[in-house]
Amino acid sequence: MRGVTQREVEGACLELLRRASTRLPPDVKAALRRALRSERDPIARVNLEAVLENVEVAEREGLPLCQDTGLPLFYFRMRPSPELDPGKAAARAVRRATEEGILRPNTVHPLSRKNPGDNLGRGMPLVRFLPPDGEGMEITVMLKGAGAENVSRTAMLTPEEGVEGLREFAVRTVVEAGGKPCPPVIVGVGVGGTAEVSMELAKLALLRPLPRRHPEAPLRRLEGELEREINRRGSGPMGLGGRTTCLGVKVEYAHTHTASLPVSVNLQCWAARRASVRMEGGEWEWR
Ligand code: SF4
Repeated sequence: MRGVTQREVEGACLELLRRASTRLPPDVKAALRRALRSERDPIARVNLEAVLENVEVAEREGLPLCQDTGLPLFYFRMRPSPELDPGKAAARAVRRATEEGILRPNTVHPLSRKNPGDNLGRGMPLVRFLPPDGEGMEITVMLKGAGAENVSRTAMLTPEEGVEGLREFAVRTVVEAGGKPCPPVIVGVGVGGTAEVSMELAKLALLRPLPRRHPEAPLRRLEGELEREINRRGSGPMGLGGRTTCLGVKVEYAHTHTASLPVSVNLQCWAARRASVRMEGGEWEWR
């Protein structure tokens, strides 16, 4: 991409890791404050107050929001460029962030459980390329803690089960997760494609800021219905009861096979850490 160097991309990736690890996005903070205002249950209030205080201290002191700094996921929106290697830039940034204590060394071999100590390894960090949006480059980092990731689920529903089946599966997944994903959670739902595409979509859904509903009316309605139904079940903050189990539900979809209805649910904990930067015409806009 014209005008951006490999070193700048690496620097941007490192800064995104620092921001994502230590600051909660404003939309998530606002949603947590709203949840506290609407909460009557004393235990739920204590939990939300503790979370908000934790956020304040982390931001003030420049410390990670949670001791589990998660697995870093990188999303690049850019046209291919022979001068840039985004995967290499992301990997170098992850190594530096681990050395600086921004990230805890979380990454291990899946079977031997051996930890290389730098958050790198086969397939790590996860780097995905999304369709470019104009001439510039956009990089987004999401940090995904294990508590929330571990309760993700995929179901290969039949077309006959339809929207009702999806609804039942999504609500049950969140309710059965209880306190494990550190609620209040954000719920990503991916529908369609194939099994793995539906999970990718569920994760991508988590990148959409909270107040932003799906642009298509039926999906928008479904998001609102799922959110109300999940909160009506009363699991509450940390699964200890209360009004706010989820801060929002985001649905993304892709067309699928006529005989299939893949549905995936990917949860993000209250520490919904993400940060983005857009680079265009020499300007850098941090989001
Ligand atoms: S699920 Fe999230 S908040 Fe809970 S321990 Fe893991 S990273 Fe931290």
